[in-house]
Amino acid sequence: MTVFDTGDEALDAQDSPRTSVRLADDRELIYFDDEPGHDRSAPDRRPLPPRRPRSELRLDPVMGEWVVMAAHRQDRTHLPAQSECPLCPSADGRHSEIPAADYHVATFENRFPSLGGPPAGGRCEVVCFTSDHDSSFSLLPDRRLETVARAWTDRTAELNRRPDTEYVFVFENRGVEIGTTLHHPHGQIYAYPFVPARTARALEMARGHRAEQGSCLFCSIVAAERAAERVVARSDRFVAFVPAAARWPYEVHIYPYRHVTGLPELEPDERFELMVLYRDVLRRFDRLFDAPAPYIAHFQQAPARTDPGLAHLSIRVFTPRRAEGKLKYLAASESGAGAFISDILPEDAARRLREAR
Ligand SMILES: [Zn+2]
Repeated sequence: MTVFDTGDEALDAQDSPRTSVRLADDRELIYFDDEPGHDRSAPDRRPLPPRRPRSELRLDPVMGEWVVMAAHRQDRTHLPAQSECPLCPSADGRHSEIPAADYHVATFENRFPSLGGPPAGGRCEVVCFTSDHDSSFSLLPDRRLETVARAWTDRTAELNRRPDTEYVFVFENRGVEIGTTLHHPHGQIYAYPFVPARTARALEMARGHRAEQGSCLFCSIVAAERAAERVVARSDRFVAFVPAAARWPYEVHIYPYRHVTGLPELEPDERFELMVLYRDVLRRFDRLFDAPAPYIAHFQQAPARTDPGLAHLSIRVFTPRRAEGKLKYLAASESGAGAFISDILPEDAARRLREAR
């Protein structure tokens, strides 16, 4: 047996395989397996045309924010039947985006990306959490949580190293209510060629806080919230709470107590602890209305180059469902004025989520 003396990463990689292959149109696909011993070498046999993403970045001169034009996405796959699902493994002569007959976690470049191509740059990846079409993140077993976290960490670190990446955004949209076009359990990763507006604004606030108080804004928030009535759940090293000024009916932020700027800084056992708490929060969302909650979840992490020390890792998840059969819409005040009106007190939302266990 080979003994690695180069630290945890090498041991981790040895125990848990990672296989990079190329799809028929030269996109990269990476398999992350729960354990060694799986053959992921099946070739992609589809006659795919060459891919030419042509996204264009335009700067809104009024708001000073980037808008991405991705007109080539209009023809993307929309709510296909399960027999046509592009995220299920390839089997019985049917060829999906994933050539292997089975997989644990697979991440690949999106065939219909929002970003990418000259001159805009950037990259969009899809992350499939399981080969089981009818599962969801909240149903994943412990071993799979570790593998998904390892995939997210690997992608964050590698995409941050690309010269055209300014910000890596890991996220999941679930539910037709919020516009998901594929049912198969999956998330996405955008490597933006710019720091997106909300993140830039948060970093600006963090810079101000550091100048005035000499400390991390997010560490201060976590210290104030860890004993407050808005806590939903906690573990040894992480806390999940409803923010004091939550915008959405049910919104939870999960933070590490220690100052960590992104997934690559977490130890593998910390990563796992974070995933278990995240899964716990998602299960509570589903129990709120005794039905799978539509939700949006995303990671906030440090930008690739700008002010890396100002950021503080968090997972933020919210559902737009405010009551059974009722959704919160972004109407004039939210969309036009940028002022959110919330129908539910964060303290009440936290209490309901605490009870939904
Ligand atoms: Zn599927």
